[in-house]
Amino acid sequence: MSLDRCLSLLAGDIDQALILPILYRFGWMEWADLSFNWALISLYGMFAVALTYAVCWPLEAAFPVEHWQGRKTVWVDMFYTLISRVGVIPVVSFLLFYQVQAEFTGALADAGFIPPTLETLIPPLFGHPVVTFLCYALILDFADYWRHRLSHSIRAWYALHALHHAQRQMSFWSDDRNHLLDDAISFLWFFVIGLAIGIPPLQFPLLLLLLKFMESLSHANIRLSFGPLEYLLVSPRFHRRHHAINAAGRRSCNYGAVFSLWDILFRTADFSDVYLPTGDARAPEALATGGYAAQQLAGLKLFFRSLWPMARQSKP
Ligand SMILES: [Zn+2]
Ligand SMILES: [Zn+2]
Repeated sequence: MSLDRCLSLLAGDIDQALILPILYRFGWMEWADLSFNWALISLYGMFAVALTYAVCWPLEAAFPVEHWQGRKTVWVDMFYTLISRVGVIPVVSFLLFYQVQAEFTGALADAGFIPPTLETLIPPLFGHPVVTFLCYALILDFADYWRHRLSHSIRAWYALHALHHAQRQMSFWSDDRNHLLDDAISFLWFFVIGLAIGIPPLQFPLLLLLLKFMESLSHANIRLSFGPLEYLLVSPRFHRRHHAINAAGRRSCNYGAVFSLWDILFRTADFSDVYLPTGDARAPEALATGGYAAQQLAGLKLFFRSLWPMARQSKP
């Protein structure tokens, strides 16, 4: 039996045994049509985490850049990954996107417009679903390059993004280590692009999971570059340069998440053959080594301090 079929059967069981009874109990039956797909995307999320682990863990064990004594902060990053890929991505990128897209296309149709899709914008893509899917990935990644670059240029935004950079034990679990507000901005960013190019609701979470698999690999504690392929795809070495402790904030480079192409095009690429220590020397210690709640709170404090010039001046 194929993996796809296995996951579908399992999603059906979870839907029947767990989700539908809860929807009945609380009178939320309007969600019943979507609950199977929601369960399926959560399972895809779990499968994506398992696949990431199966690929990255042996590589980290065999070719580590750093050896660590304790791994407490890595456990916190693992928690971020699980809630993001199994919980938040399926809920936000499927359930919410589905609803918003239905409203959006309905409103456009009422106004006499045909909602846009990538195929209507680029007609040769008709009949080529795999190429269209890859085009969606390329467009989302291009948008993410600019989101990421702006988050380093705007002081208040970097105050949130500093949580991602504060990690000194960067591993393949570190990709989802983000402030909740930063995550909310990212989802909104992707949402708008997804609506504008008409990504089908079931493909949207799968695209995010695919891109995130590559992003997990690029955060891994592995001494690995992709050779000439590094001029197209972001390798662990390339992204580690972005996380270098002496290059946090505005002095950073290598903003691309999956394709290094954008950094070459917009002159922010650094292909130096170095594996520098990671972190943000200016970040409060709670952002680096605190638990989940402590990191979120410290990030929020940093954000408000960045918005309030008087408080900022009193700080070194
Ligand atoms: Zn960054
Ligand atoms: Zn990163």
